[in-house]
Amino acid sequence: MKCRKCLDKAVLSIPRHNTALCGPCLTEYAQIQVERAIGREKMCTKENKILVAVSGGKDSLALWDILLKLGYYVDGLYVNLGIGQYSVRSRQKVEAFAELRNAMLFTKDAANDEGIGIRELADLVRRPTCAACGCIKRYQFNRVAVDQNYDVLATGHNLDDEAARLMGNVLRWNQEFLEKQGPVLPASMEGFAKKIKPLYRLTEREIAAYCVVNGIDYIVEDCPMATGSRLLVYKEALDVIEQASPGSKQSFYWGFLVQQGAKAQLDHQSMSDRDIAILHPCEECGQPTSAAMCSYCKLMAKAQIHQKVS
Ligand code: SF4
Ligand code: ZN
Repeated sequence: MKCRKCLDKAVLSIPRHNTALCGPCLTEYAQIQVERAIGREKMCTKENKILVAVSGGKDSLALWDILLKLGYYVDGLYVNLGIGQYSVRSRQKVEAFAELRNAMLFTKDAANDEGIGIRELADLVRRPTCAACGCIKRYQFNRVAVDQNYDVLATGHNLDDEAARLMGNVLRWNQEFLEKQGPVLPASMEGFAKKIKPLYRLTEREIAAYCVVNGIDYIVEDCPMATGSRLLVYKEALDVIEQASPGSKQSFYWGFLVQQGAKAQLDHQSMSDRDIAILHPCEECGQPTSAAMCSYCKLMAKAQIHQKVS
């Protein structure tokens, strides 16, 4: 198989574009896709300070690498969730990545801040681990981005992630989430960082190949808590469809952005005016919330009550 651009030996075929690319051409392709995503969706500029949330996995490390190579001002944030050896190894990968590139890395020890690991916390408050984890990550990402004066918070969600999420929202006709799903969530008010997903034009396969070609050492195994997740089921279903009909994932998600007018919608309203109007600082931590306490502080308060009782 030859690279369709330079005729060198190809390392990856990309059926959805009816092409195959060698290492250097794949690197260039990935960078172009990220630049295109940033430009088309008005995600950020080279003058902005970007904080990228890194987990040690391929997507977030590839994103950090690409943004650094493209000349963006970008630092990393790792939140340690205290998931046994998985967290130990993922933290090592992130730290090694940052050290090698002399890049700035913030580390938040959620496991220590909350006094227990994410699994134990979820058990304590009787919520699914991923729900508790999502709440903590959203809180910590936003908190660090706002406190450290970053303009934008970037995450490594890719085309597969977004297409699977869309499938879940469509299957349940979850109108509220459908309206908010997009590659940009503007900073709707003070206290909320603007959030961007610059990898939404690249698939998992393409990103994994980018990591291999560019010598990025990432944690290959999935989080042990992901087993049985519905999102994985949707991803598998979409993989079957993609294999039979290349380009389906792309047209499903990109078509959604166009058809629903999501892009225009997200430029102007990530939240309805009504939501913005009723947001006020959380009485515990000061982050914006529509209730007296934000969901993170509620989770923590519940955990403390259960801890005292047990
Ligand atoms: Fe958190 Fe669940 Fe993702 Fe693991 S799989 S990192 S527990 S959200
Ligand atoms: Zn709070």
